Amino acid sequence: NTFMELNLSRPLLRACDALGYTKPTPIQAACIPLALTGRDICGSAITGSGKTAAFALPALERLLFRPKRVKAIRVLILTPTRELAVQVHSMIQKLAQFTDIRCCLVLGGLSMKEQEAALRSLPDIVVATPGRLIDHLRNSMSVDLEDLAVLILDEADRLLELGFSAEIHELVRLCPKRRQTMLFSATMTEEVDELIKLSLKKPLRLSA
Ligand code: AMP
Repeated sequence: NTFMELNLSRPLLRACDALGYTKPTPIQAACIPLALTGRDICGSAITGSGKTAAFALPALERLLFRPKRVKAIRVLILTPTRELAVQVHSMIQKLAQFTDIRCCLVLGGLSMKEQEAALRSLPDIVVATPGRLIDHLRNSMSVDLEDLAVLILDEADRLLELGFSAEIHELVRLCPKRRQTMLFSATMTEEVDELIKLSLKKPLRLSA
């Protein structure tokens, strides 16, 4: 099993190579080909499994393969904590290093003004914690999810444990109906199942 066999574009293969990834982890081998078909995905995966690249690579591939003329946010990644958002953002920067795809971080604790400026420069990808993204949606015109193609809910169980249920539901409602949604969770609780029913369409279930 190699990254080459996963039908990823050259700049992404180069990035995997630069990161020293010689072969896909099990969750990547399972997730990437299915995610590239555009289907919704629901994955049981823990941190350390390589889940970030499992959702980031197909999302990046979609941006490379189907570029939009109009600059807009095309991929939104929601994470429960600032630490995870920082990690996911850093991983995406590395995976996108040979492309012109731009990724922006939106989280509590950083200045609203600076983040507004970053959002106004129209990144392709936004990695955010739910509360802060809602603040931006309510208080400024800097976020527009109308052209969103991919929504990713990372560590869904923790998002719910930390009390972000209402925020997530609000954000899901603001996303276009026609989109790809990927949800990852370490555990599959009843609450996670409810969120899956609400935000995913006929999801393919994976575990690794
Ligand atoms: P994650 O589960 O996404 O938090 O990733 C855990 C760690 O595995 C990160 O440090 C990644 O850089 C690394 N990683 C992800 N995919 C691979 C791979 N295919 N080969 C080697 N390391 C990887």
